[in-house]
Order: sequence, then C-alpha cells, then structure tokens
Amino acid sequence: MLAKVFGSALHGVEAFRITVEVNIGNGLGYYITGQPDEIVKESLGRAEVAIKGLDYQMPCTKLSVNLSPAHIRKTGAAFDLPIALGILLASGQAKDPGLLKGFIVVGELGLDGSVLPVRGTLCMTCQALADGMKGIIVPRANLPEASLVGGLSVLGVTHLRELLNFLGGKGTLKAADKSTGPPPPDPAEQLEFRDVRGQEPVKRALEIAAAGGHHILLYGSPGVGKTMLARRLPTILPPMSPTEIQETTRIHSLSTTDPLTALVTQRPFRNPHHTASDIALTGGGSSPQPGEISLAHNGVLFLDELYEFSRSAIEILRQPLEEGRVRIARAKMSVEYPASFMLVAAMNPCFCGYFGHPARVCTCSRRALEYYRRKTSGPLMDRIDLQVEVESVPLGALMDSRKPVESSAVIRARVVKARAVQSERFRGLNGVYCNARMPEQSLDDYCLLDAHARRYLFGRLDSALVSARSYARILKVSRTIADLAGREVVEMEHVAEAVHFRGLERLVEGRNIAKAVTKV
Ligand SMILES: [Zn+2]
Repeated sequence: MLAKVFGSALHGVEAFRITVEVNIGNGLGYYITGQPDEIVKESLGRAEVAIKGLDYQMPCTKLSVNLSPAHIRKTGAAFDLPIALGILLASGQAKDPGLLKGFIVVGELGLDGSVLPVRGTLCMTCQALADGMKGIIVPRANLPEASLVGGLSVLGVTHLRELLNFLGGKGTLKAADKSTGPPPPDPAEQLEFRDVRGQEPVKRALEIAAAGGHHILLYGSPGVGKTMLARRLPTILPPMSPTEIQETTRIHSLSTTDPLTALVTQRPFRNPHHTASDIALTGGGSSPQPGEISLAHNGVLFLDELYEFSRSAIEILRQPLEEGRVRIARAKMSVEYPASFMLVAAMNPCFCGYFGHPARVCTCSRRALEYYRRKTSGPLMDRIDLQVEVESVPLGALMDSRKPVESSAVIRARVVKARAVQSERFRGLNGVYCNARMPEQSLDDYCLLDAHARRYLFGRLDSALVSARSYARILKVSRTIADLAGREVVEMEHVAEAVHFRGLERLVEGRNIAKAVTKV
C-alpha cells in the first residue's frame, strides 16, 4: 500500500515542499531514495525504534521510502516524523480521516517517540504559505517560531503518539498561541552613546560609517575603548525594514536548533572570536548552516584583534564583502547565504600596541613593524572606508559632566535622514541602498565635487599624500559626509574630513614609520 505525507527540505535560506512516499510491497528490505544525506538515511532506523516502542509493527516485506522531487538534496533530521507517519499509514496501522490534507509535517524523532525541534521551521512555514498549503505540523518547541508566520494553521506536537491520537480523533494538537508578548528587549539596545564621554572623533567616524554603510577600522592601544565604542554602533543604525527583518529572521531560524521565539527586529551584532574556525565564520558543514557573517546579515560583524585572525579567515571575507552573500560549495551540493553586513574591525597599531602613543614607547623591532605594515595593507584593508585612531580620553574630559553628551537617538536621527537621501539617489539601482555600495563606474555621477574640493583632493593625490588606491573610498565617504550636512555638491571640508579618516594609511605609509624606527 502507498501512503503520502508532505515534508520540507532546506536549501540555503529557501525551503522546498517534499512529498514523502512510503510503499509496502512484495520483497524484502528497507530502501530510501531521492537524494537523502546520511542523516536522512538514518531516519528509517530512528523511525523503526520509535514505532516498535509504541507497540506498532514494522513491515516484514519490502519498505520503500521515496522523497520527491529527486533533484533536491535532502539533509537533516526533519524527515523522521513524516517517514514514521508514512510507514504507519502505508501499513494500515494508522488512518488519516483527511486531517493531514494540505499539511506539511516536520520533526526529528527521539527513540522513545518524542518529537525534537528542527532548524528552519520559519523558512518551511513561509514556503508552506507560499505554496498555498493549509498548515504545518512542527515540533512543539518550534511552535513559537513557526507561528511568526501568519495566514495558515500552525500546530505543535511533542510525541508521535500525540499525532496518532490526533488522527484517530482522540485528542488535539496545540495551536499557535497568538497572544505571544512583545519580543524580549535586546541587551544591545540598552547600550548608549550617551554613556561615552570624550571620543568625539571616533563617534563622528561611527556616525559617518552608519550613515553611508561604510566598513570601519578602529585602531589604538589596548584598553582605549575600541570594543566599547564598536558595540554601540547598532544603536545608531537605521531601523530594520520589514524585508530586512524577514531576511535576518530566516537566517537566524536556520542557524541552530535553539528555536526562535521572536522576529529579529534589532540589527544583529556578531563578534566572533579570532580562534573561530572558517566554517564557524562563513558557514558550511555536512548539513550546511549559516556562519557568523550570515548571522550578521543587515547588521554588524565586529572583528576584534583583526590581525589575530588567520590569513584564510581574512581571505574568505573578500567575496561576501564585495557581493553581500557567501557561496558554500560542497562535494554534493552548494548553497548560498546572504551576508551583507557592516564590517567593524579593531586592532592595535603594532604588535606591542604602543606605536604612535604619546606617552609610551613602542618596543617593536623594525622588522616587526614592517611585517605589521605589510599585513595592514592587505586586500581586506583596501575594502575598509574609514580608519580611525582611538586614543585614551584625558581624565579631565571624563570628569567634565557639564558638557552635554549626545544620545544614540539623536545621532540615529541624523543617520536616518542621510540614508533617506541615499535611497532616493539610488532608487533605480538594484541592490544599492547606501553610498558604500555605489558602483565604481558611477562615482563621478554621484560624487559631484566643487572646484575647491577637486583642487584639494587632486593636490593630495599628486603629492602622494593620498594613495590612488584609496581615491574611490575617499570619494564615497565624502559623499556621505556631504549627505549628513545636507549638501548636494561635495565641498572641500567634506573631502578633508574623509582624507583625515585614512589615518592608518598615513601612519604606515608616511614618514611616521621611519621616525618610530629610529626611536627604537
Ligand atoms: Zn609596537
């Protein structure tokens, strides 16, 4: 006899409806077809133990399970429940009076028949809705996550027996609780720029970065507050649009089996440690999952101690920084995850941390400084628009409580205004929504410089005070600074400020390095 149950397969952030066909016929043996991975193949084993544990029988003849369409590779344990259900229906031990019609069923089975949470139920539910399905049955632990999608029936199940009782008319399944409260406050939201005294140049640089979506590097001696400042960046970024909320929540739904309980409405701030593996950073694994760079999608990726990160880790950031997504190729499949984030990096100015420090002497050797310099001019550094030095705040400024300090909300209002100008500017350009993403070939169209600004910038290019490599970066940042000032044409002061924020480049390329070397 043949039974059919609908399941769901994940591929990147997309889900696909899969028909689980179970047939019991003449012959011997258990077979599973339709591109299952190792975990899906093991589903039969888990289903067998769970079915026998509930005092049902496994068929003594040939059992064939087919997952169609066959061209999609099936991964993960979410097929356990539809397969077990299919076996019981095909062997006539369970009957469906039509309750499963139009429903997708997903869930991992424990050996005792309990239904365990799976990842990606939000994506699966979205797809079920798009496919015009009536509803979805998910593990109870995933019920709050799946319920975030409205417009279809979402039911939660804790045990295989509960589902069989439901089909037999002896019980009900828990439906989505629509009265879920507001999402818990994000700790990141409680951070405030108002709590930071001094550091005005860094705050200004972070505001420019937020306004134009620019990548930024903070460098300075240990303990000057680089991390503390970076953590506050999400508080001045513009609020997430409904599309961004959906995109980011979908990725977070895929990342782990810790089920989501609320939409991701705060821009993520991800702070992977420099010892994190390449897979943890970019995503992947045998049953691919998004990595830190995708979890930072539409938010901030903060790399503290940048040059403690391995060369390969830095190397693999190049593609996502340019394309806003990451492709993970495996032997049997390749998946793509969105990874459009603002990169914030922090590092010491040299190995000992005191190069250029007003009071302490750098103890690095000439060779060490040169090695560090080579590292700071790599391909990743070329993609960073703003480089800003973080200095320790003099005690006087810390104690001065008379000077008012701007709150995050005030800074954010200016950022939002500048972003509005940019979305208007790039209206016709697909995927471009901020100055940082401006295509290089249209720099001249959008970054109109007045005569003074042109003379200033070209003068600096001629005398090599500005490298040709950083020309495009300076133009884009100048554009953002002019947007913040509400100017249509970029003026000299805007360009001068943008040039000022190439501090590290000056530090390593200028004469400073020679001076420091002679000092040692
Ligand atoms: Zn040093």
